[in-house]
Amino acid sequence: MSENSGAGTLYIVATPIGNLGDLSPRAKDVLMSVDVIAAEDTRHTSRLLSHFGIKRPLLACHDYNERGRSEQIVRRLQDGESIALVSDAGTPLISDPGYHLVNAVREADLKVVPIPGACAMVAALSVSGMPSDRFFFEGFLPAKGAGRRKRMTELADFPHTWIVYESPHRIVDMLDDMAQELGGDRRLVLARELTKTFETVLSGTVSELQDILAEDENQRRGEFVVLVHGAEKPEILDDGLSEEARRTLGVLVRELPMKQASQIASKLTGVKSKLLYKAGLAMKGD
Ligand code: SAM
Repeated sequence: MSENSGAGTLYIVATPIGNLGDLSPRAKDVLMSVDVIAAEDTRHTSRLLSHFGIKRPLLACHDYNERGRSEQIVRRLQDGESIALVSDAGTPLISDPGYHLVNAVREADLKVVPIPGACAMVAALSVSGMPSDRFFFEGFLPAKGAGRRKRMTELADFPHTWIVYESPHRIVDMLDDMAQELGGDRRLVLARELTKTFETVLSGTVSELQDILAEDENQRRGEFVVLVHGAEKPEILDDGLSEEARRTLGVLVRELPMKQASQIASKLTGVKSKLLYKAGLAMKGD
């Protein structure tokens, strides 16, 4: 679809997640040149702008007024104004407001231009040493324990790296829930205070990281990105069975007739009973 000629552009501008040196020259130019800057928190953004000597009018655009604001912003763009959207830190729309606005602007056939820059989860993934060829970004897990644990059980078998954002007052509870739902041996990376003075990237198992946070309260402070190693695939042995399926079958064939043993093992492990029957015969040396 053609974009309206004479209409203004909406710029989605990434801002620093700590280190002000991460505001790109292009982001600065755009913020200086637009007619108005839509900001999640105008007081927060005015501090950033005054640091860079940028003086542009601000418009509050946050979770609670975004839908209403979108109509207003669409009208202003149609009238030829150019507008930048920023959030408090990092890339707008990434666990931040902006989705409804971008959707409305694109629906109105108006131009939306990204001005890329800092994003905490991308920065964390890039230094984590976790598999990064495929990953899943969860954003914030539910704040309440029961909801959080339920979501963790849904993600427990996910085979690739998954990433969550977490605040300092929930990090310890979140690790406790991970120990329960994923097991203490699951590998994690905690990326804390990225680009700031106390930047720390810790790798280890859930249990090891629980111990570090319990011993050192400084490690519980600040903003966190948590990267969870995907579930390991069970090792498949020569007979086509995982170690676990083999062990289950081994116990059952000692106690039960082969057909029954393979059927029960199949229910317990999800492996086809035909394959288990064959493996059971091999175990017995038939
Ligand atoms: N839009 C932002 C982005 O692009 O990353 C994220 C905004 S979200 C409301 C804020 C969360 O991002 C924090 O609670 C924390 O989990 C993560 N975060 C933001 N800055 C961070 C930093 N410097 N170090 C580690 N995590 C950070």
